[in-house]
Amino acid sequence: MITITDKHNCCGCSACVQTCPKQCISFEEDEQGFRYPLVDKGVCVDCGLCEKVCPVLNAGEPRQPLEVYAAINPNEEIRRESSSGGIFTALAKAVLDEGGVVFGARFNDQWEVVHAYTESKEGLAPFRGSKYVQSRVGETYRQAKAFLQQGRKVMYTGTPCQIAGLKRYLGKEYDQLLTVDVVCHGVPSPLVWRDYLRDITANNLSQIASINFRDKSTGWKNYSVKISGKEGKDYVNESFRQNLFMQVFLKDLCLRPSCTNCAAKSGKSCSDLTIADYWGMEDPNWDDNKGTSLALVHSSQGQQSMDACGVSKKQTSYEEAYRHNPSIERSVAENKYIAPFWSSFSSNGLKGVQPVLDKMKPSLVKRIYRKFRRLL
Ligand SMILES: Cc1cc2nc3c(=O)[nH]c(=O)nc-3n(C[C@H](O)[C@H](O)[C@H](O)COP(=O)(O)OP(=O)(O)OC[C@H]3O[C@@H](n4cnc5c(N)ncnc54)[C@H](O)[C@@H]3O)c2cc1C
Ligand code: SF4
Ligand code: SF4
Ligand code: SF4
Repeated sequence: MITITDKHNCCGCSACVQTCPKQCISFEEDEQGFRYPLVDKGVCVDCGLCEKVCPVLNAGEPRQPLEVYAAINPNEEIRRESSSGGIFTALAKAVLDEGGVVFGARFNDQWEVVHAYTESKEGLAPFRGSKYVQSRVGETYRQAKAFLQQGRKVMYTGTPCQIAGLKRYLGKEYDQLLTVDVVCHGVPSPLVWRDYLRDITANNLSQIASINFRDKSTGWKNYSVKISGKEGKDYVNESFRQNLFMQVFLKDLCLRPSCTNCAAKSGKSCSDLTIADYWGMEDPNWDDNKGTSLALVHSSQGQQSMDACGVSKKQTSYEEAYRHNPSIERSVAENKYIAPFWSSFSSNGLKGVQPVLDKMKPSLVKRIYRKFRRLL
């Protein structure tokens, strides 16, 4: 039976929970807001299925992509609403056109991030846009399997560990399944996210009208975080560099422990396609600061979907893409300020962590050295 002795070894995919034939695994939130499986030993029959489906205990082999593309959705409105070039929506629309079902991450009515599915094009809008919070997979592996067994086409999108969990849960290949993972820096804590939202809205989450982690009004590269209220006021509208939640995310202070030792990056998830931001594009025709996607093709199914989805695409090399996007392969390092961060957070909430962020600021000498290196 599954036993978590080291939290670095559980990505929270929930494949074990959804697989257990006795339904004796619950998913419990810890003091950092991440969920972990807990077995009711009195009911467990020691069948071993939970260990068999775990993508961390059974990590895949690293793969280099077959082809690499820069991609842009020709629909400017969709591209504006998407995190990079809008490739997700192009792929998803093609699946819906064939009568398929698309799974992705969206906000629920409490502004938590959850996985869900849609069978309509209007239903794709809530999936657009990266939500920098760990999403809850819920029952969606079971739902995807049921659609596949009915012969429906299914596109399932998520982080590499969510795709790895789905593949292990399904346990066999389906021709009509398209799996798409995002290059993943790591996932922030849902508890820190809840605390942040409660703070900025004075505990009035029902007044939030929309949340955009990657608003492009200030340009794709200098994107803003925008949280708007129902009465027209903005709770937050600031560069990601200034935004407190994004600072703790990008400084790796509130990520799931497994993200420092990711078992699913580098193509190990066995997805058909990996999508990401195409940072460092050198061809000016492909970089207008409105967002360009990167697509790594891992299978013939992935290639067919790329060819059929109607994006403008340009072939590039893996070396070029990786040079500007190390998260494709590399996990984040364990930040030495993680313990002080959680200690401040548990006493005073997210607002109380500013002294920790101040301590992390590089010295003047270090800043000058970094600037000099960048200029070189
Ligand atoms: C937590 C996280 C970390 C990321 N880190 C990087 C990175 O380091 N480098 C990089 O190049 N790109 C990263 N991305 C991917 C990037 O932000 C875009 O998703 C990608 O460029 C696809 O672009 P698009 O224009 O098609 O996006 P969109 O249309 O915005 O794509 C949305 C897709 O992302 C999925 N998604 C959104 N939020 C979540 C979530 N919380 N969990 C699982 N799936 C989610 C949706 O289901 C949908 O499939 C990250 C995404 C997430 C969610
Ligand atoms: S060993 Fe079998 S019964 Fe026990 S928790 Fe795992 S899946 Fe459930
Ligand atoms: S990684 Fe997934 S399958 Fe493995 S123990 Fe954690 S939740 Fe269960
Ligand atoms: S970094 Fe790895 S373990 Fe963390 S959420 Fe992303 S895919 Fe999962």
